[in-house]
Amino acid sequence: MSVRVRFAPSPTGLLHIGALRTVVFNDFFAKGKGGSLLLRIEDTDRTRYNPDSEQEFVDTLKWAGIEFDEGPHLGGKDAPYRQSERKEAGIYAEKIADLIEKGAVYKAFDTSEELDEMREFQRINKMPTGYFGGDWRDASPEKVAEAKAAGRPYVIRLKIPRDVKITGEDAIRGKLEWDSNTIDDPVLLKADGMPTYHFAAMVDDHLMGITHVFRGEEWISSYPKHIVLFQAFGWAMPVFVHCPVIVGTDGKKLSKRHGATRVLDYASQGYLPQPLRNFIALIGWNPGDEREAMSDCDLAQAFEIRGIQPSPGRFDLDKLKWMNGLAIRAMSVDELFDTLREYLASEITSEYWNTLEKDDELKIDPAHFVPGMTLLKEALERDPDYVRTVLPLEQERVSTLADFGPACEFFFVEEVVFDQKSVEKAFGTDHVRGLFEFLLAVDSDGFTAADWDKAVHDWAAEQGIEKMGPVVMPIRVAMTGKLSGPGLFDLMAVLGPGRVRARVSRAMEHLR
Ligand code: GLU
Repeated sequence: MSVRVRFAPSPTGLLHIGALRTVVFNDFFAKGKGGSLLLRIEDTDRTRYNPDSEQEFVDTLKWAGIEFDEGPHLGGKDAPYRQSERKEAGIYAEKIADLIEKGAVYKAFDTSEELDEMREFQRINKMPTGYFGGDWRDASPEKVAEAKAAGRPYVIRLKIPRDVKITGEDAIRGKLEWDSNTIDDPVLLKADGMPTYHFAAMVDDHLMGITHVFRGEEWISSYPKHIVLFQAFGWAMPVFVHCPVIVGTDGKKLSKRHGATRVLDYASQGYLPQPLRNFIALIGWNPGDEREAMSDCDLAQAFEIRGIQPSPGRFDLDKLKWMNGLAIRAMSVDELFDTLREYLASEITSEYWNTLEKDDELKIDPAHFVPGMTLLKEALERDPDYVRTVLPLEQERVSTLADFGPACEFFFVEEVVFDQKSVEKAFGTDHVRGLFEFLLAVDSDGFTAADWDKAVHDWAAEQGIEKMGPVVMPIRVAMTGKLSGPGLFDLMAVLGPGRVRARVSRAMEHLR
């Protein structure tokens, strides 16, 4: 039987890192096994429904490079893929009728006040909370008929068997076992006829021929209910894979402190989809060897369920930065140029940076990024050839696309901003004035990095200066305003004679 998996988010808000991990596992598993991946929208909880959410999912998954074979936006043999539409099509009503006929479910007419009272009673008496049968599981047919005739609203609950062990398999943890007396009777169909997750997801997994259910570990406690439901129908179970929770490097539950939790924020921050997929796949899973930076093809080939650990997966932003930096370095100049142009032109980039406030928790300060990104964006339009020569110099040094902003800023400003400390450190030596005068005088038209290298070394030799540090440093500060950056002679060649001279002249104003 060929592998068929699904990503089944509830459209209640943004798409977060945890959900992306589920879909990434599904995706690599399906690709590696030649199977198919479908998107199903679980929108039956109308109180938590968010109308913008589905679009956010589709946009995010598209950006992240997750390709579905079927889904509400694509169609497919199991359409419709939105549970609200499946409800309208009568799919769940038909299945609930089967269960009624089998005697596996019952109607419960409790009012919300009665349910509150029951919970309060359980709480005070330190009893397990939940609906373990109440007044209705064993109610006589006459009592039920009477309540129905009186038009009282009711839900349909699943009869969890009592006084037995419920057992099931989890692909990561092996055999699991529960005392059935600790499992309450879940609602399958609400009073308005809407199915709950327990019902709709299991029915759909069966009808859609899902072979493996990858979902978060938080669903393990509901798993016995799902097992009983599959048994009630007499259906074969898919393989259930409960994926470990994600924690930060401090071992605490993933939160904003560890990095953004909304996936699209990573797009805005200048991460690339492939290294993000790679990084996400390695949260709680490993290929069984030491490999880390992997292509999609390698990931798909290596992805086996036995590589998923039951222990929490660690989210390490530094690792993502490293992987993203590798991917940036692997690009050709043309590829990098196009990627950056697209990134800087994108609405999500500008919206993110323009509305972001300095965030110490996230350790992100828009003031550090935005001016440079704006200059870079303008330069891309105005002087693309110059930008093409600039980019390779910073390509080795950045981790994200956004980093190109501050890194390249000095290439595009009319006047570099001198960092006072750097000025004090670099401009104090006696030979600096002579050095700057030489730089102004030398005929540097058409100078390459090697030409600059030679000219500056020759000048130093003439002056009897042996150590190059005190020569290179003042020039660097004059060119960039800072003490660190790409290779000095490379950047001088890229700046060209006009800019070099203008910058030296300005630097001379800082000499005492
Ligand atoms: N709709 C559920 C959620 O968003 C999906 C759980 C599952 O994959 O079965 O959490």
